[in-house]
Amino acid sequence: MGKIIAIANQKGGVGKTTTAINLAASLAALEYKTLIVDADPQANSTSGVGLNPKDVEAGIYECMVDGVKSSDAILTTDINYLDILPSHIDLVGAEVEMVSIEQRELKMREALKEVKDQYDFIIIDCSPSLGLITINSLVAADSVVIPVQCEYFALEGLGKLLNTIKIIQSRLNPELQIEGILLTMYDARLRLSNQVVDEVNTHFKQMVFETLIPRNIKLSESPSFGMPAIAHDGESKGALSYLSLAKEILEKNGLAHK
Ligand code: ADP
Ligand code: MG
Repeated sequence: MGKIIAIANQKGGVGKTTTAINLAASLAALEYKTLIVDADPQANSTSGVGLNPKDVEAGIYECMVDGVKSSDAILTTDINYLDILPSHIDLVGAEVEMVSIEQRELKMREALKEVKDQYDFIIIDCSPSLGLITINSLVAADSVVIPVQCEYFALEGLGKLLNTIKIIQSRLNPELQIEGILLTMYDARLRLSNQVVDEVNTHFKQMVFETLIPRNIKLSESPSFGMPAIAHDGESKGALSYLSLAKEILEKNGLAHK
């Protein structure tokens, strides 16, 4: 039975896509069959695993709106154990088109039901909004990882996100759990980075992952090679930090790893 984890934060540039790609690739490296769902019209995780969004014929949009089977839209990647349900720019239109559909919050859950059992993990890369596609992602998910960038205004918007999660838990998805808050782009040399770590730990102690994701050049340049950092430079600090996050999540869920 696959566990569906949404990577969500309505702020842009906090490391959602980097986390989705590298967490998924790390779980795959640990031989857990993993699917990335690219739920952002910018399609960064689609290109980040080496696919051209322009070549995508059917993605999550068609699965939610046009009734395309997700098994027909899923593509394999060059990485063992890692598949992707891609995105392309039409996903922008989905928000508008779905407004008039019945049970519009449930479309992604319905779309993923068919393939859920074929994967150990399904990682959803959410878009930087709390719009209908993100609501769909949170309704489909079993848990959510919230990346928080170690920068100014790190906690901005976090209250609103946690509140949205609460509303979804009470109305649409009572099973939704918070897998954890993930501190990203940490730079040990910067006082600001350390202040953010302290502040987040003070406010949200129980929720914060032990793993800190450092600011690392391999993480920012690997998408331009169309591959996760673990495939680009598996010994880099960035790749190793996401491997550590994957192990932390496996342990939290009572699953073994090498
Ligand atoms: P989001 O999906 O939340 O908008 P991204 O994952 O695309 O955020 O990250 C925003 C930018 O920061 C990208 O250019 C990405 O390559 C870079 N980035 C993300 N995480 C790191 C990191 N740990 N170290 C260095 N650069 C990073
Ligand atoms: Mg993104």
